[in-house]
Amino acid sequence: MSDIIQIVKSKDPTEKEFHQAVGEVMESVKPVLDRNPEYGNAKILERLVEPERVILFRVPWLDDQGTIQVNRGFRIEMSSAIGPYKGGLRFHPSVNLGILKFLAFEQVFKNALTTLPMGGGKGGSDFDPKGKSDNEVMRFCQSFMCELFRYIGPNTDVPAGDIGVGGREIGYLFGMYKKLRNEFTGVLTGKSLNWGGSLIRPEATGYGCVYFAAEMLATKNKSLEGATCLVSGSGNVAQYTVEKLLDMKAKVLSLSDSSGYIYDESGIDREKLEFVKTLKTIKRGRIKEYADKYPTAVYTPVDPALDYNPLWRHKADCAFPSATQNEVNAKDAQNLVDNGIKVVSEGANMPTVPEGVDIFIDKGILYGPGKAANAGGVSVSGLEMTQNSMRLSWTREEVDNRLRMIMQSIHKTSLDTAEQYGKPGNYVVGANIAGFVKVVDAMMDQGLV
Ligand code: NDP
Repeated sequence: MSDIIQIVKSKDPTEKEFHQAVGEVMESVKPVLDRNPEYGNAKILERLVEPERVILFRVPWLDDQGTIQVNRGFRIEMSSAIGPYKGGLRFHPSVNLGILKFLAFEQVFKNALTTLPMGGGKGGSDFDPKGKSDNEVMRFCQSFMCELFRYIGPNTDVPAGDIGVGGREIGYLFGMYKKLRNEFTGVLTGKSLNWGGSLIRPEATGYGCVYFAAEMLATKNKSLEGATCLVSGSGNVAQYTVEKLLDMKAKVLSLSDSSGYIYDESGIDREKLEFVKTLKTIKRGRIKEYADKYPTAVYTPVDPALDYNPLWRHKADCAFPSATQNEVNAKDAQNLVDNGIKVVSEGANMPTVPEGVDIFIDKGILYGPGKAANAGGVSVSGLEMTQNSMRLSWTREEVDNRLRMIMQSIHKTSLDTAEQYGKPGNYVVGANIAGFVKVVDAMMDQGLV
């Protein structure tokens, strides 16, 4: 097992997020490998850490001044063992191969947990949509799709959104795909409702993450009613996490973006949430404007000199990290524990560093890792694919019920698997092993491909 991490590190020494994701899964699945020596003989680990295909391409586009800009585009097709590659596209200046490989690797096991037939992939670009006009974003998306269309398709690879890719970007990407292929198919998920999207898809990751937290609390005969909650981020996942927490009568105290965070001691109610949705999705403004509008809130800008995030120093019952990877460091985890946190449910992918995860687990916190807790988004993407191929649309209630059932199933599978491997209550081990076994057994069945 340590051999495989050494191999990964020596092959791609700079991809530290990928090393982190591989290390975490390998640590969890050690007992499975011990019980199943045939996996070792089949070089399963060596095959799993190598993407089936990596596509890297040039994305040239014209900005509003008529100047040529060049970005880099990527698609990592990680595993098709249990279905077509499936996973989001991220547009953010920090995007590089290592980050996308970590996300694609996580996606493989997450998708296996959903019970739907989806392989794992991820893609994106170092393009930054922030501060760009709609026309610039459209020209970029069109150029990106002019290359990507060769590799994707409704039965091959079905991308979706992620950081920096929402409904607007999916629309522009789909438009160009349709023009190039001359066919209307469910090649992307997260589409608008009137041309093939699914009800509840925008809400799914946030709602699912709250359903997962509710399931964890139910194991202790508790609920979210009256619970105080810290949420980070203010994008798609954060907004719908807040919405579902309000449905469950919890009190939400915070939101953030990459410039800083707001803490609202009187709680974020539905009217304030609507303000945030408009601010972030339509006006594309900054979270600071929340504190300008609501005097009960205090805005704290990011202080790069600090080695902790003050957002995680507030007292609360539950934390929902919903911004980005490694946003909760070991100090943050300790601060949360010292202030009595009971539940951490991850909307973002890998938001907690490994030392932080250890702290949560050692202290017996109900800790739902992103791979399990944020799987609601890809689950409803899977349901969108199903509706597209059946050429029908389910109602809001139908999709929400299915989402809730899938989150309950992911929770139960993770809990039961952890118990079976002697780690009761450890959702990290449970989720990693359950996802891993499903993918690996499919690989064994399909021979050396
Ligand atoms: P959005 O682009 O809608 O929102 C991202 C939010 O996170 C913004 O508030 C953004 O602030 C903040 N953020 C991004 N990068 C950083 C950073 N380096 N430091 C601090 N804040 C940052 O993305 P989503 O809400 O879709 O995604 C959030 C997380 O959830 C990601 O980890 C994503 O991988 C994960 N996820 C998303 C799913 C989905 O369905 N969308 C599914 C499963 C997981 P700013 O505006 O300043 O950039």
